[in-house]
Amino acid sequence: MEFSKRILKIKPSPTIAVTSMANSLKSQGVDIIGFGAGEPDFDTPKNIRTAAINAIESGKTRYTPSGGIPELKNAVVKKFKRDNNLEYDQSEVIINCGGKHSFYNLMQVLIDEGDEVIIQAPYWVSYPDIVLLAGGKPVIINTESDTGFKITPKQIAENITKKTKAIIINSPSNPTGTAYSMDELSKIAEVIENTDIIPISDDIYEAITFDGFKFHNIANVSDAMKKKTIIINGVSKTYAMTGWRIGYIAGNRDIVNKIDILQGQSTSNPTTISQWAAVEALTGDQSVLSEMMIAFHRRRKFVVDELNSIPGISCYNPEGAFYAFPRVSEIYKFKKWNSIAEKYKDPYKSSSLCAYFMEEARTAVVPGIAFGNDNYFRMSFATSDENLKEGLNRIRDAVEKLI
Ligand code: GLU
Repeated sequence: MEFSKRILKIKPSPTIAVTSMANSLKSQGVDIIGFGAGEPDFDTPKNIRTAAINAIESGKTRYTPSGGIPELKNAVVKKFKRDNNLEYDQSEVIINCGGKHSFYNLMQVLIDEGDEVIIQAPYWVSYPDIVLLAGGKPVIINTESDTGFKITPKQIAENITKKTKAIIINSPSNPTGTAYSMDELSKIAEVIENTDIIPISDDIYEAITFDGFKFHNIANVSDAMKKKTIIINGVSKTYAMTGWRIGYIAGNRDIVNKIDILQGQSTSNPTTISQWAAVEALTGDQSVLSEMMIAFHRRRKFVVDELNSIPGISCYNPEGAFYAFPRVSEIYKFKKWNSIAEKYKDPYKSSSLCAYFMEEARTAVVPGIAFGNDNYFRMSFATSDENLKEGLNRIRDAVEKLI
């Protein structure tokens, strides 16, 4: 079969692949602990579930405008005012089928063959592939844990070319958990303020921050930055609604209009019932979030402390999101590492290590190379305390066997 050049440019999503593999082993009766896909283990809060049931019972089950119901756009407008001090008109907002779909649509309407998008590594696995699908060129800037996984204004300036169309800012970051302060965002803004480069702010982990870290968006820096910035967000992570598939975009009205056209010719509206559930999520009782945040706080401390006590592992203390992204390059120097490299014969060390963890520790984590850096792996701590304890014990035992 001859496939399009487009589809041949991309690979399966590694986060989804690891999770599917773990689930399939689990269904065969293998005792696997999954730290793969980032998905809160909590149930969607009751008030949101009830809103969805009410939507079904009251016949809200038909097509809606392809860009979403006015009630949800209005809820998004209110959310930006309440949480971010940003004013939008409904015409500057569109609802999509999850944050990934928001980013996909955005790339489809903005990117032409050869256009460049600056992406900071470690990056979320789907950014480069979605840019490639649109015909664009991902321009990757590497960062490391010893500099807090922060990109510098100088690095950005050095990577800007005539073809640079956009830069992605994902703070708090998946996978590293690093987050930019207002001061750091202001310095990044200085580099792009007087250019046509579009800052794309992926705020999906906005609500999950630690130790009092205060989330800011680059659009908060100045009116000029607000005009330029496109914000992506969604209800998946904040409200434990991953399966409901509701994301949204706010920004330039012309871009929003083009996405509306694209959506009308591709998915049509995001699921009607999910949209009504999202209205309740954004406008209903927000205190339901604190319980989840207390658990994330506790788990982050436990996971980071445990990881740092395992030989050969050092872990950055994330300011937000629910991932740990430990550095494991010292393990590659252990006496018995060669036997792992020979056994799995993977060109990437982090893939071999994660295959070893899957087999030896029956624990599923995602190799760092999937996020653009082979010296790390990612584990989600959006799972129960018991799973975290047991999984980390298993990882410790597996690592100690390599010394
Ligand atoms: N964004 C989550 C993750 O990184 C969910 C899976 C995916 O879409 O990549 O694990």
